Amino acid sequence: MTIKRTSDGLSSEQYQDLTEKVKCLLLEESNILKSDDDLENFLKEQPVPNNQLLDNERIYYLLLNRLKNWVAREQAKQDGGSSWKRNFKKNPTIPCIYCGEWFDDEEEIVFHHELRDGRKPIPMHKECHDEHHRKKKNS
Ligand SMILES: [Zn+2]
Repeated sequence: MTIKRTSDGLSSEQYQDLTEKVKCLLLEESNILKSDDDLENFLKEQPVPNNQLLDNERIYYLLLNRLKNWVAREQAKQDGGSSWKRNFKKNPTIPCIYCGEWFDDEEEIVFHHELRDGRKPIPMHKECHDEHHRKKKNS
């Protein structure tokens, strides 16, 4: 049997295994944190209308949101983040990799992620990026 891989090279099973582990970790942590008195008081002061959520569920979603923010910061550290992209747009240091032309002031620059494995994104003209994806989709 061949293993089905997603576009990033991981198999669906490897991805599911990771998400299950993360979910278990967040559930475990939310069960630990629900006995924190300060957090319990904080949640009481922020009641949910028509409350149908248990404290540990609310904590789970709070942790999930924190995790999402952490993931965005970790990715930004590696791929340069928004400040690198903003600076590049102000002062492009290389031409478009796709067509080889420099970026004019009024042209929109987008950042292509060939693979999100830690490499820096590639600045491209928006039109070039769209064309690249059209060709990739049709190949
Ligand atoms: Zn281009």
